[in-house]
Amino acid sequence: MQVRYCPPAQLVAERFVNTAAPAHLGFVAPAQTQSLMQLARLQNFSSEAAFYEALGFAYHPPETREGPPRSDFPLALLETKDLKGILHAHSTYSDGKHRLEEMARACQKAGYEYLGITDHSQSAFYANGLKIAQIQAQHAEIDALNQALAPFRIFKGIEADILADGSLDYPEEVLQTFDFLIASVHANLKMDQAKATQRLLKAIAHPYTTILGHLSGRILLRREGYPLDYEAILEACAAHGVVIEINASPYRLDLDWTWVEKAREKGILLSINPDAHDMAGIADVRYGVQMARKGFLPASQTLNTLSAEALANYFEQRKRRIQM
Ligand SMILES: [Zn+2]
Ligand SMILES: [Zn+2]
Repeated sequence: MQVRYCPPAQLVAERFVNTAAPAHLGFVAPAQTQSLMQLARLQNFSSEAAFYEALGFAYHPPETREGPPRSDFPLALLETKDLKGILHAHSTYSDGKHRLEEMARACQKAGYEYLGITDHSQSAFYANGLKIAQIQAQHAEIDALNQALAPFRIFKGIEADILADGSLDYPEEVLQTFDFLIASVHANLKMDQAKATQRLLKAIAHPYTTILGHLSGRILLRREGYPLDYEAILEACAAHGVVIEINASPYRLDLDWTWVEKAREKGILLSINPDAHDMAGIADVRYGVQMARKGFLPASQTLNTLSAEALANYFEQRKRRIQM
């Protein structure tokens, strides 16, 4: 941590200079000869908003000061309060710490309308992945809880392992019992770019894939993501209507924020998912929101800003498309 001192009159300028990246600070606006950094220090502004306004830009909050300021700044960046529900969470059915009912009640208590529970699939044996009989038991429990907790709703999801060849690890008659499916890679991480990309492309094209989970597989400070052709992956998600998750776990933050804007430009929906393995983990969505904001994501392009009813319709439409 750094502590900086400055005279009160320079506070606005110094705060701006210390919360923006070089590409932002060095930008020279049209009709100006000096960079943003120089202009900020040239006169005393009453606020950062006043500084941006004087230059003809919308206010850029600190997390959006990575590149040059934008003249097309989206009016309403995503905020945590825009999220209506939680997708991607684990329970004691697989490797979560808390029971399904506890996870659901924790979401309800935090003000969310729904929880999309996504325990691990059967090939994730290390994470106690669900055998088919356990899926049936979980679905029966969800039906009962949906009666008890209404109008709160639990969606039947699964975090299906993407196998080495890109296929998903349940047969069709099981896959169709879920409301939605997150496809994620958990094993065989050492592939070259061509293989890793082909593997994901196959999973994206799978008719039951709703969301692509933690796309790069990275664990921050511990493991790089596998090499991927991001352009091809994003193209495929756009073509197949597959949502990309921003995994909000502070260990992952995956999709990396530098790709959020590209995804947004291609019209891909993003979902802010905590990948919660206990009740406390649900609140991790806030980190995902911060990453989304760095990529200028508006609420309107975020899947879990949908109400429970709208999301149910969305899932149904996705499934109806398969049967046609
Ligand atoms: Zn996962
Ligand atoms: Zn997970």
